[in-house]
Amino acid sequence: MSGGIKINYYMIFGVKPDADQSEIKRSYRKLAMQFHPDMSTGDADYFRLVTEAYSILSDPYKRAVYNIDLFSGSLSHIEASKSVCQLCKGDGSYVSKVSYGRYKVDSKIVCTTCRGTGIIINEKPKGE
Ligand SMILES: [Zn+2]
Repeated sequence: MSGGIKINYYMIFGVKPDADQSEIKRSYRKLAMQFHPDMSTGDADYFRLVTEAYSILSDPYKRAVYNIDLFSGSLSHIEASKSVCQLCKGDGSYVSKVSYGRYKVDSKIVCTTCRGTGIIINEKPKGE
């Protein structure tokens, strides 16, 4: 998927862009159950969309790539309120020594602070 209109998967799940995995998973389960083609409330096309959305958002790497794509696009209000992650300096990952048995190897670690996006989204507090 490149160019064109980007579907906001976060809106599908009704979660904020910095929602954690359990929140997304919970929402996915609810929607998957509701729209499963076998259900009376089912919708095969929407079910496929929800499943596709979840396959992206549940994978830290895919989610990071998707976020960059999404946030540099039409969601300029998020663009305006984001800041570069201090921990990974906006890379979304950092290199760290990881032990593999007797060996220590430089490994790319997905940054947990920004969840691999390289950016921190500063949200306005609710109820204002
Ligand atoms: Zn980071």
